[in-house]
Amino acid sequence: MQLNGKVALITGAASGIGKAIAETYAKAGAAVAIADINLAAAQASADEIKANGGKAIGVAMDVTNEEAVNAGTKAVVEAFGQLDILISNAGIQIVSPLVDYKFSDWKKMQAIHVDGAFLTTKAALPYMYQDNRGGTVIYMGSVHSHEASKLKSAYVAAKHALLGLCRVLAKEGGEHNVRTHVICPGFVRTPLVEKQIPEQAKELGISEEQVIKSVMLGNTVDGTFTTVEDVAQTALFLAAFPSNALTGQSIVVSHGWYMQ
Ligand code: NAD
Repeated sequence: MQLNGKVALITGAASGIGKAIAETYAKAGAAVAIADINLAAAQASADEIKANGGKAIGVAMDVTNEEAVNAGTKAVVEAFGQLDILISNAGIQIVSPLVDYKFSDWKKMQAIHVDGAFLTTKAALPYMYQDNRGGTVIYMGSVHSHEASKLKSAYVAAKHALLGLCRVLAKEGGEHNVRTHVICPGFVRTPLVEKQIPEQAKELGISEEQVIKSVMLGNTVDGTFTTVEDVAQTALFLAAFPSNALTGQSIVVSHGWYMQ
């Protein structure tokens, strides 16, 4: 029970990677708030955790909306009395060649990935700065925080931006005992990735099998997908780490696709 007594707010936790982190944190003793734009799915995930003996609530939150983020964060503190861990994880993918990339899609991508990270951080920090009690803020980056791929201009730009945000927070938050990291997964077979397999096949003029083998796993050391459990265990390690020696880091979990 490495997270006994801790309270975690996880955005985009009704599905995929965020859902697995919420389950792992609840098993480690944390009370978890599953914040998602899809409230019904967030509540269903919270109910599953409660059925397994954990503490959880579902919270409606569109991370691009400042009022919704502030209200949702406040609701978590009202429910559980404090906030120790923020996982800024909500995200989507829109693939298209740069020359055709719609400006409206670009803005949507930056709003969810970058504005969402900023707004949730800003809402969480006052609770963590209170009496310098501290906390952990983890951003869900990607190998695309370090590498580029065709068709992903908005995603690559947004995921690179998270490294900068994290490093500023490491400096500003340090004196308040707040530490922060970016987790950078390789490809994980969540709905976000399933959707882009046929999309990439169409844009690149190759088969879906080739997208998986060459585009998604071609640079890994063993041709293997990263799993939601791999990412959740990394998030657990970082939140449970016993000192502030580890802060401002990018941790890549990708079967060796990108080596720092
Ligand atoms: P997913 O589609 O399974 O889950 C994303 C969740 O975010 C969904 O529950 C969705 O409802 C929620 N969401 C979308 N827009 C939102 C908004 N505006 N406000 C609040 N919630 C919103 O996707 P996933 O693969 O689990 O992705 C989670 C994060 O991991 C994303 O930031 C993604 O970029 C990142 N990531 C994923 C992979 C991968 O291969 N799957 C790899 C690296 C990084």
